[in-house]
Parts: sequence; C-alpha cells; structure tokens
Amino acid sequence: MSVNCANNEMVVLETVKDFQQWRQKQSGTLALVPTMGALHEGHLSLIRKAQSLADKVVLYIFVNPMQFGPKEDFGTYPRTPQTDIEACQKIGVDAVFMPPMPDIYPQGKENCTKVVPPTELGDILEGHFRPGFFTGVATVLVKFFNIVRPDIVVFGEKDYQQLLVVRRFVKDLDLPITVYGAPIIREADGLAMSSRNAYLDNEQRALAPSIQELLKEAASKIKLCKNLDEIETVLVNTRQKFSEHKFDLQYLEARDADTLQPLKTAKDKIILLVAAKIDQIRLIDNLLVN
Ligand code: AMP
Repeated sequence: MSVNCANNEMVVLETVKDFQQWRQKQSGTLALVPTMGALHEGHLSLIRKAQSLADKVVLYIFVNPMQFGPKEDFGTYPRTPQTDIEACQKIGVDAVFMPPMPDIYPQGKENCTKVVPPTELGDILEGHFRPGFFTGVATVLVKFFNIVRPDIVVFGEKDYQQLLVVRRFVKDLDLPITVYGAPIIREADGLAMSSRNAYLDNEQRALAPSIQELLKEAASKIKLCKNLDEIETVLVNTRQKFSEHKFDLQYLEARDADTLQPLKTAKDKIILLVAAKIDQIRLIDNLLVN
C-alpha cells in the first residue's frame, strides 16, 4: 500500500516479502525505529532523531508475543494501526512495516531459535520481574534487524535496560549497526509517555506523575550522599514513599548507568530505575542522577 504525503510517498508494507522487495530498491543510509505501535510523542521523537541521522526511515509495528509473560497484557495491548499510519505519514516516515505474526514466527514463537542476553544484564531488574522478557526482545530485534538491514537503530531511554541490552547484543554478535538512544519524552506533569498509559483511569492517571516526582526527590538527595550507606537510606525511604502513595513497587534501584550493576562508590555515574504498579498497570521510569 502507498500513502501519498505532501511531497513524498510513504509505503505501508504488510509482509516480509513486500518489505524485502522495497528494501532492495533503496540506496543511501537507512534508520530503523522498532515499536509495538500505539504511537505517541515518545515514538515521534525517535523518528525525528532517525530522520536527522539517515537518508530513509523505517518504522515497524509488531506486538511481539515472545516478550510477554503468560499473565501479561499481550491480548489487550493497545493496537491503533490506522492512527499510527497517519502519524507516520504526517511526520514523513518512508516506510511503515507491519508484518503479521506468522511472517515473523512461522514455526510459532516457542520453536524459534532464541537470542539470550547475558544473565548479568538480561536477568536483573526488568528481567527479574519479567523472566524471558529480554530474550523475547533480543530475538525479535535480531530478526527485524536481519529483515530490515538498517545502518542505524534508534531506541528510547524510557526503556533504559532495553537500550543497554541492544547495545550489548549488537556488540557481542558483531552486528554492523549503530545504536542511538533518545531522551524520555514526558507529559506536562512529568509522567513518562507510554502506550500503556492508555490503561489508566482518571484516578490512576492523577497518581502516576508521583513516580517521576519521587525519582527527582530521591535523585536530589543522592547527589548529596557521600557513601553507599547514605544512598541506601535514601532508597529505603523512597521505597516507603512509593508504598504510602499506594503504588505496588516492584523495584527502585540506584545502579551504575553504564552497566546497570550495583554501585561501587557514591561517585559512580548513577541512574535510578523504577517499576511500579498502579493496581494492575505496570509503569517504568528512570532518571540519571549525575
Ligand atoms: P514500544 O512501542 O513501547 O515498544 O517502544 C518503542 C520505542 O519507543 C522504544 O525504543 C522505547 O524506548 C521508545 N519510547 C517509548 N516511550 C518513550 C518515551 N516516553 N520517550 C522516548 N522514547 C520512548
């Protein structure tokens, strides 16, 4: 399908075969923005970055079953393909690629060869609470990287651990791709934009910005800490505040921002990472301290 835009033509490619035929005809550099759709300003910021880095931009939309746990929201994950296509057309994406499930997992997701990130990165934080999540993420990304053959890929720092996992497997597997990160885009009240924010009712939405507020408060205190014990005290107090705000906190950690390993000193480059549930809705956020 071709969609006419003011000055250029965007294509929507709905099979791997169609995509590959289109890809063969492209010259110049190509940047890929991987998404699960339900696009918002966060995704659009990645597109703008990709456009500044390459001649052509491909955005894919694929709700990847392999990265959802059995009790997670694969079935109800927001799907808004028509609005997504219109947003991509407006911003000037060159191709939207939205393959059906059997094109990506012809033998089923269980029977697909897996890409397993190293335990030290893939099984901590998000990976601890969502077993198999980063294997699902890495596997689908390697598949899409091989189909799309991008020079550049752009990921949001909203999913900070995912960005590090991608950097890691690109390096470990010698993939000829340059990985870029882009800053978190937030709502006016500080809530990190997320497709899952659509699940929040008014009351839950009113509570959600506290995640960022509590992170900022903790970060300003951690900046003044002289040792790891003081940092741990700030974390313990902040975890307590999350509970008082009626969040079901899964984790709040201060980690080395380059490796996500535990801090060695209070002078490390520190990132705060959080996953908190409001009722059953799971939100993640992070904040660089220094
Ligand atoms: P998703 O569709 O949730 O899988 O996200 C696709 C890409 O958009 C990932 O690289 C995310 O990190 C990125 N992303 C999602 N939300 C935001 C945001 N609020 N700001 C910046 N990037 C984001």
